[in-house]
Amino acid sequence: MLSYRHSYHAGNFADILKHVVLVEIFEHLRQKESPFDYIDTHSGAGSYNLNSAHATKLEEHVGGIGKIDAHLYPELNRYFEVINHHNTASGNATDICKYYPGSPAIAKYFLRSQDRAWLYELHPKDYQFLCKNIGPSKKIRIQSEDGLAGLLSLLPPKSRRGLILIDPSYEVKAEYNSVFSTIETAYKKFATGTYALWYPVVDRSKIDLLEKKFIRSGIKNIQRFELGIASDSREHGMTSSGMIVINPPWKLYNNMQCLLPKLAKTLGQGNELFYKCDILVSE
Ligand code: SAM
Repeated sequence: MLSYRHSYHAGNFADILKHVVLVEIFEHLRQKESPFDYIDTHSGAGSYNLNSAHATKLEEHVGGIGKIDAHLYPELNRYFEVINHHNTASGNATDICKYYPGSPAIAKYFLRSQDRAWLYELHPKDYQFLCKNIGPSKKIRIQSEDGLAGLLSLLPPKSRRGLILIDPSYEVKAEYNSVFSTIETAYKKFATGTYALWYPVVDRSKIDLLEKKFIRSGIKNIQRFELGIASDSREHGMTSSGMIVINPPWKLYNNMQCLLPKLAKTLGQGNELFYKCDILVSE
């Protein structure tokens, strides 16, 4: 039984890291005319109204996207372009971020006629919202099935170029193992794909273990980016979150090296400045 709803958390500091990395990868994929496939194993609802009862209950977006002044972040032009486009398309003509785009809406913005997307969402309500917010489209297939099994059934994609986003809620503790073993199997079928795995830092020992598994896996070219509002703590829930990226675009590391300290300064609580930017395994 799934209880996690992303509508309580949309636009928080974790979404910013995840979606900024996603935008960078899409930009890179679009540099070539040849088609690509996008696979989103855990899609969520696709779009979030930040004035909804869910979003206003925790107000996580206030400490996230609400703190980022687009004018002070020219390097995030494209990310804000997607947000503005999403608001206009959702009927919000002002430049205020009322609707926050989820990963499927970001993907939809970047897909060209030759590209395809495969979206998986298991929660029955969020599946319905996803279909309403994103579909129908000939380029996009939306499935109410397990995303990790779905991913393996699609690889290698016909296009032989692809981005795979794996963004579970980690409600079920076994997900720390299943995301790794799925990526290990997926990589054997499609070693040239770009894989982006999101993780929360609630218990650092779990992340240390995940990191070790990737380092020992034999998978090449792995980078890791983390952004937090505070340093690790046993008491305060999720203090930071990260993205492990396999086969990243060549510019990503340098861009994140410049961006992460700046974002950490804007988003950090008190004087905390927490981020990580590492090459876990070289090419
Ligand atoms: N990727 C989205 C974004 O960036 O906007 C947010 C996704 S949210 C963190 C995780 C979603 O995965 C939830 O909506 C949850 O219902 C869904 N989910 C959980 N287990 C799943 C599974 N095995 N297959 C597909 N979806 C799943």
